[in-house]
Amino acid sequence: MPETSRPVLTDLRLPSPEATAAFAARLSDRVGPGDLLCLDGDLGAGKTHFARALIQHRQAAPEDVPSPSFTLVQTYDTPDGEVWHADLYRLSDAWEVDELGLADAFDAALCLVEWPDRMAPDLPDRALWISLRMVPDDAEARDLTLSTLRPDFWAGRLAGLGAA
Ligand code: ADP
Ligand code: MG
Repeated sequence: MPETSRPVLTDLRLPSPEATAAFAARLSDRVGPGDLLCLDGDLGAGKTHFARALIQHRQAAPEDVPSPSFTLVQTYDTPDGEVWHADLYRLSDAWEVDELGLADAFDAALCLVEWPDRMAPDLPDRALWISLRMVPDDAEARDLTLSTLRPDFWAGRLAGLGAA
């Protein structure tokens, strides 16, 4: 689904990897088990960087958070419940999504999914889409857009998080 068809909640520029990590940590405080965060963007856009910062913010002692591009899914036990970090880039068949048990995880865990379009249209409307884009002539900056088909579900919870 083209991004423009989802209502936009926030649009901002993240000038450095550290700014992206700080924003991910602030978003982390607004989400929990049962939330689905779809990380959208090209290779190298910063999806894993964002997920890593968010997950480490939730860990009692920050651990290694590798990219799940080969394992497809990495799970983490945190004080506030289970976190699933998935990368669907290598997903070959729709049935593989069933095998992974992602649909059940959407209800029980906090889920972060890179390359979520691989499993569209099986994504719940309540998903929060985090779109990252490179910025021309600035290798350290990224543009970030938060959007969702359910702004009613998210707008209040994200109030004050960043420029709209
Ligand atoms: P993806 O998972 O989207 O393929 P990664 O997160 O693995 O991308 O890699 C993103 C790379 O871009 C990292 O090396 C990161 O340090 C770099 N980077 C540079 N600027 C930024 C920024 N503002 N936000 C996030 N990552 C950035
Ligand atoms: Mg990645």
